[in-house]
This record gives sequence, C-alpha cells and structure tokens, in this order.
Amino acid sequence: MKKNILILKGDGVGPEIVDEAIKVLKKVEKKFSHEFNLTYADFGGASIDKHGIPLTDETIQIALNSDSVLLGAVGGYKWENIEQSKRPEMGLLKLRKELNLYANIRPTKFYSQLSYSSPLKESITSKKIDFVIVRELTGGIYFGKKETEIIDGKKIAHDVMTYSEDEIRRIGIVAFEMALKLNKNITSVDKANVLHSSKLWREVMEDISKSYKSVPFNNMFVDNAAMQIISNPSQFGIMVTENMFGDILSDEASVITGSIGMAPSASLSSTTLGMYEPIHGSAPDIAGKNIANPIATIMSVAMMLKLSFGMNDESLAIENAVLKALDNNYRTVDIMPKDEK
Ligand code: NAD
Repeated sequence: MKKNILILKGDGVGPEIVDEAIKVLKKVEKKFSHEFNLTYADFGGASIDKHGIPLTDETIQIALNSDSVLLGAVGGYKWENIEQSKRPEMGLLKLRKELNLYANIRPTKFYSQLSYSSPLKESITSKKIDFVIVRELTGGIYFGKKETEIIDGKKIAHDVMTYSEDEIRRIGIVAFEMALKLNKNITSVDKANVLHSSKLWREVMEDISKSYKSVPFNNMFVDNAAMQIISNPSQFGIMVTENMFGDILSDEASVITGSIGMAPSASLSSTTLGMYEPIHGSAPDIAGKNIANPIATIMSVAMMLKLSFGMNDESLAIENAVLKALDNNYRTVDIMPKDEK
C-alpha cells in the first residue's frame, strides 16, 4: 500500500521521539512491502521561529492532502511569553479544527512489566486495566469565546463552554461504535449536576445508548471519575467525555502506566485522515538529552496503521515489538526501577 504521511516533529523532545518512530515506520514499510512517503513541515515553536506563526496555510494544505499526520509535541520555555493567540499550542488547536479532528482516542493500558513504576497498589493493578478515553476535541471551553475585560477597574476573564447536540452525538457514536467493536462497557463523564452543557451531554448520550442496547452504559460525574480512575480503573472500558475533562482525566490515567511517555493518542475525523501523537508535551526539561521515552510515539504509529490505514497485522507487529523490548528490560529513565536510575 502507498501512503503519504506528514511528519510534524515540533519542539523540545518532539524531534527525538519522532525520529525513533520513523525508524519503526521504515521497518514496517520494508517488512510488509508498503510505500510510506514522508513529508516534513515546521510546526509549533519551530514554525514561529521561521515563519512568525505556529501553523502556516501551506502546512495545513499538506496535512489535508496527506493520508495521515504524525506529530511529536509543541511548546517550550522560549515561546512561553508571546501573545496567547500566537503561541505554539494555538497551532495545535488550529490544526485539529482545520482537519476536523473531533475524536481523540487515548488508550490506557497497564503493562505488568512496569508494575514497579505505577503509583497504584498491586491490589488495584492485579485486575486487568485496559480502557480507552474518547475525548471530544474540537468543541467545548477550549474553542469557546475567550475574553478578559475590565469592569470597575478590575479584570474579569471569561471562557465559554459551548456544546451543540450534533457535536455531542457524533463523538457519542464514535464511542459506542468502539465499545461495540471491542466488546467494552461505556461510561459517559460529565458535570450534569452543575453545567448546562453537561446536562445536554448526558441527555444526548442517554439517547444514543437506546440504539446500542447490548453496550452496558452508565453516567459518572467528572469529580467521581477522577477518583475512580485511581481507585478502581478496571471498571472502565470506554470513557467518553468532553474536551477539557478528557484532557485532564487522560493525563491522570497515563500515570497508571508509570509514565506519560507510554501513552499514545489518535485524533480522528469523519474520513480516514487522522493525526497521531503522544499525549505528552514537548518536555523541555529533558529535551536535547536523548532520554525521552519514545514508546508513546511508536504506539501512536501503531494506532495510525490500524485506524487510518487498516493495517492490523502491521499495527500488532509494532505492539508486540514494544512488549518484547519491555520483556527484554530495555528502559528509558522515566520507566527505570528507582535503584537503576
Ligand atoms: P510535558 O508532558 O511536556 O511534561 C510533563 C513531565 O513529563 C515532564 O517532567 C517531562 O520531562 C515528562 N515527560 C513528558 N514526556 C516524556 C517522555 N516522552 N519521556 C520521559 N518523560 C517525559 O508537560 P508540560 O511540562 O506541562 O509542558 C511542556 C510544554 O509542552 C508546554 O509548552 C506545553 O504547553 C506543551 N504541551 C504540548 C502538548 C502537545 O504538543 N500535544 C501537550 C501538552 C503540553
């Protein structure tokens, strides 16, 4: 199969981890006789330095003409103090919106090989932990009206959280279809006891559940979900939630694995074009030292092959190779036993 992949290495550890993932892509290309055409573009801080903005129209066009996008991470100390609308992270939000990547898929899997690096007790991790957070990615508070005004000499800031019925329904259907395919239960996470947008979220999710009667379904408030992820994570199959709740809960879930450097993600649209990236940021504190964990990015490539290209065997081969590396005790410093660091 021939596929065009846009590579956005980004900033900080981005280039280091993406270079490792490209090695894996090249290996798969050779082993399974595919042709992966890789195109490279600047993104985030690297794009600000060259073009003055984090995401150029040209890069958007290349992304739209590609079969998939592989991204490292953006941001860093150098660009922290520039105006909010021009920051590297704004490029990321814009790209998600331009590619209509409304469904963010974040698997959380407990690796028994790394049990020592999980902060959870063995009584919790001895039960199978393997759930997926399906996060709405192009709506909610991150995309709502934002402003800071001055009233009576005092600053007041607003961030508006808006959701339409259609936005909730399309992410709900992604989650229910996944639950059906993977034979998992669904937990819809909201704050319906306080927020209007959450009341609508719950109403729509309950309505969708009527069409998926074989999928066990429950609602959970986000504050409870934050506790349950740590105290009883094995209860979850698919967790579907809005943009900001998903952002926070998926970072929390990633520590179950022992390191944020283990957690991959896929951002999907209604076509097969997707963007694949580790859930972590550019880790400026360790950038340039060549010690960043590349597994999240490599597993993001596995997700790309499966979800965008339908290459199931190739994806499984990558997952198995990662497991083998862990079995053979290959470790980056973030997942090393304390006494070996
Ligand atoms: P971060 O995820 O970059 O780092 C948090 C901690 O995890 C750090 O101690 C870091 O060293 C560690 N870490 C992250 N990835 C690792 C890896 N692969 N291997 C080993 N350790 C790893 O979050 P942060 O420090 O809050 O943010 C740094 C920058 O990244 C900021 O500019 C932020 O806005 C940006 N950011 C970007 C994205 C993205 O590109 N998708 C996501 C989150 C944050």
